[in-house]
Amino acid sequence: MAQDFQLAVREAVHDEAALKAALAEADIAPMLMVLVQLTGDLDILEEVAPYIHGAWSFLQSVPEPLKQKVRDRLVATLQDYATSKQIAPPQPPADVLQRMMSAGVGQPVPDEYIPLLLEEMRFGEEDTRAVRWHNDPAKLPPWDFKVIIIGAGFGGLCAAIRLKQLGIRFEVFEKNASVGGTWLENEYPGCAVDTPNHFYSYSFHVNNRWTQHFSRRDEILAYIEDVTRTYDLRPHIRFGAEATSAIFDEKTDRWQLTWRDAEGREESAACNAVISAVGQLNRASIPKITGLDNFSGPLFHTARWDRTVDLKGKRVAMIGTGASAMQAGPSIASDVAHLRIFQRTPHWAMNNPNYHRAVSNSNRWALEHIPYFSNWLRFQLFWASSDGFHASLHVDPSWTSSAVSLNEANHKMRELIVDYVRGELGGDEELLAKVIPSYPPYGKRMLRDNYWYRMLKRENVAPETDPISHVTAESIVMKDGTVHPADVIILATGFQASRMLWPLDIRGRDGHTIRDDWGDDDPRGYLGVTVPHYPNLFLIYGPNTNLAHGGSIIFHTECQVRYIVQALREMIERGYTTMEVRQDVHDQYNHRLDEKAQSMVWAHPGVTSWYKNDRNRITVTSPWRLLDYWGMMRHFVPEDFLVAKPGQKPEMPGQRADAVISADRLPVS
Ligand SMILES: Cc1cc2nc3c(=O)[nH]c(=O)nc-3n(C[C@H](O)[C@H](O)[C@H](O)COP(=O)(O)OP(=O)(O)OC[C@H]3O[C@@H](n4cnc5c(N)ncnc54)[C@H](O)[C@@H]3O)c2cc1C
Repeated sequence: MAQDFQLAVREAVHDEAALKAALAEADIAPMLMVLVQLTGDLDILEEVAPYIHGAWSFLQSVPEPLKQKVRDRLVATLQDYATSKQIAPPQPPADVLQRMMSAGVGQPVPDEYIPLLLEEMRFGEEDTRAVRWHNDPAKLPPWDFKVIIIGAGFGGLCAAIRLKQLGIRFEVFEKNASVGGTWLENEYPGCAVDTPNHFYSYSFHVNNRWTQHFSRRDEILAYIEDVTRTYDLRPHIRFGAEATSAIFDEKTDRWQLTWRDAEGREESAACNAVISAVGQLNRASIPKITGLDNFSGPLFHTARWDRTVDLKGKRVAMIGTGASAMQAGPSIASDVAHLRIFQRTPHWAMNNPNYHRAVSNSNRWALEHIPYFSNWLRFQLFWASSDGFHASLHVDPSWTSSAVSLNEANHKMRELIVDYVRGELGGDEELLAKVIPSYPPYGKRMLRDNYWYRMLKRENVAPETDPISHVTAESIVMKDGTVHPADVIILATGFQASRMLWPLDIRGRDGHTIRDDWGDDDPRGYLGVTVPHYPNLFLIYGPNTNLAHGGSIIFHTECQVRYIVQALREMIERGYTTMEVRQDVHDQYNHRLDEKAQSMVWAHPGVTSWYKNDRNRITVTSPWRLLDYWGMMRHFVPEDFLVAKPGQKPEMPGQRADAVISADRLPVS
């Protein structure tokens, strides 16, 4: 932006009518921030700030005359910059940025967040999360290092881009015929993000042309394909290649990866390091219902949507009421003859004013043409969807309504949502009782209401809350004997998230295997990224890295990839052949993590969810604030690892044998 600033400013003012038209409708908060950044005028900030009351409040109305003042001044300021040919103003100092940020979201933005937010917003040209060699790579000791990445979704592609930037040799193995992972496989009607797209996207590949605030699957897939083209990644990806095993060879300190191609042929290749980017939500979960196999009509999982099945006029049974059902159900309800929804436990769902809205042309124009508008919108959305609810998800031991909520704030949220749902259901208290969870809000993934409650009021939709007994060739039979005939069954039953890395056979040092170490439901890792006894193996979206209080998985992915690439840089620059996390460091981290998670909503006794196993251990989801995780992942700490040079035994690097994981590196929030 700094170099292109003059060009951007001249383009912005080139067509004054277009500029004014865009500003007439563009979001006020990012517009105000741009004005303050370009002028340094804090008076206008103070004048508008009292009208902004919350993180989403840029959607609400600041009085029109005040808005017009901001618009007029921004036009004049941009014109000034263009005619005077001034260069971009320096980035405001931290205290000013903090005042701006706090005003923009109508709540104090603490100091500690500023570095994270600046990194996410990326004001300058610099790719803030890229890893660079410490020294001139031409002067590095000779190295011939190869990394294998498993998976070409958001995680694997991010790793591929970073390795390519450093010139580290890599190959990606992808079982599908193309890139995209989640966004390739999930084709069900209504499939979309729940996280605003202007930050559910890489910080280093900003897209100012999203057509929706919460985009649909096709648009996200197109974005992923664009990324793949831009960084020329296809030549590095072997498609139709499903990794079946990864075995660490202690004699050579290398991994041997075996994969199966589309014709079922097996081959293998050796490499120095493996990065697993297989996703948490890639293996469908099929419920164990007696007789499911006997159903004679079409039956498919939402992640394997059968496009050849025409649902028009059919009696459809949908099993499950989670995130995919929330999107698919309302999208098919008006086409089918009848939709019967089988609910085991209800979900909480909140309304978001932008969920169904297209990005206005004005906002798109402003995002593309007005300097810094896009950075400030990213900030706004990041803040609005990040750590805001985290504090309210902790159990208050003195809270007396502990069966249904955790504390006062959580209870208020409960009441707000109940009121909203009651309104959507037109006061139908019987239906309300069926769809309001008995557990506290946020116990399971908080969904975005996709007109779910209005759908339930349709004549042709029926929610069933009684338990299913079995399935016959033509129907679903309930425990009380009621028979519900169906032409099609859709399984909206989610994924085998806890059974992480399954069905890959991963074997590390000393006979360790991932399945023996983790079982089918107890994955653990240090920072979710490394596991003791598995040298040079790194995980993206591993144990306890899913997000359930806010944020975007892509943010977490970028944190993990930076950390992993820093680790690989350390190996190459120092000539290590192996690097594996210390058991004590790993155990201490997991002890702290478990303690933290147990004090939060996901461990509430009233919740059953894919976030935890049947011993009530949270295995999938991160209990940390985004800020805390970011802090832990920012700088790779070699002393957390045992390292070895060729022919040597693994040991602590350097002299810092005292460098046990220090309590101050673990968050206290
Ligand atoms: C319907 C849906 C909506 C979602 N919405 C959001 C949202 O709004 N916000 C959010 O933050 N997250 C959301 N998520 C989570 C989403 O999974 C992540 O955001 C992100 O896409 C994960 O990317 P990934 O690359 O880590 O995993 P994936 O996208 O799952 O990619 C994994 C890749 O690995 C490949 N693979 C797996 N096993 C092997 C193997 N053995 N050999 C070779 N290749 C293999 C797969 O084929 C796949 O391409 C959603 C998930 C789903 C299912």
